[in-house]
Amino acid sequence: MLTLHVLQAILFKNFALYETRTIYKIKKGKHNMNLILLGAPGAGKGTQATKISDRYGLVHISTGDIFRANIKNGTKIGLLAKSFIDKGELVPDEVTCEIVKDRLTWEDCKNGYLLDGFPRNLFQAEELEKFAKIDGVVNINIDFKLLMDRLCGRRVCKECGESFHVSTLNGATTCSRCGGELYQRKDDNPETVGSRLNVYNEQTAPLIDYYTKKGIILNFTGSEAPAEVLFEEIKAGLDQMTK
Ligand code: ADP
Ligand code: ZN
Repeated sequence: MLTLHVLQAILFKNFALYETRTIYKIKKGKHNMNLILLGAPGAGKGTQATKISDRYGLVHISTGDIFRANIKNGTKIGLLAKSFIDKGELVPDEVTCEIVKDRLTWEDCKNGYLLDGFPRNLFQAEELEKFAKIDGVVNINIDFKLLMDRLCGRRVCKECGESFHVSTLNGATTCSRCGGELYQRKDDNPETVGSRLNVYNEQTAPLIDYYTKKGIILNFTGSEAPAEVLFEEIKAGLDQMTK
């Protein structure tokens, strides 16, 4: 349920819309496409999103990052989002859709964008159609058995958003990419991960069917192989699509 102050926050645009992960290059012209990245929590969306947006010059828009920036900045939206994120539930659709709708009006979206973590249910997908034209959906399927360990062992860079796993860090506490400090997300604990995976199964997975019917989905399988391997496949699929 939306409280009055949240509605006010939406009306007066009282929320922080910037992502924490802002290292993107905008290469004008060539690939001017709007993509959605779909996949369960822990499927490797964040890592692939960075690679895809760098390669094709797309703005990376992660609703999870937007919410975390709002929490960090103590905005009203952040306060509301925190209560849902901490439980592994979805932030209400009205709030999430309004944030994305507004973000897509920014000048930098003109050359194409990659939506990471949105839409997350059928309602959001249908809303998105009212204000955006989507050219393709990159879906990463993954064996659910891998996810609990991946997420609970995940450490994220505060500066660039890159993800690591404790098992490969050898005790390092800083990012090998940019030197930023690594932290564990509050929602990366067994209980919250359990709810996030349930939410994915019940609400987000039906989107695979939805976009398959529209004929715009590209399917890939994530694994324990290095992220570069999956990225090569995604790149081949997207290059084919943009030919
Ligand atoms: P992950 O994919 O690992 O769960 P995200 O950073 O995409 O991580 O999302 C973290 C949390 O932010 C979600 O569990 C949910 O509470 C909230 N969230 C992100 N995107 C959405 C969305 N489109 N709709 C509702 N809630 C969202
Ligand atoms: Zn970093």
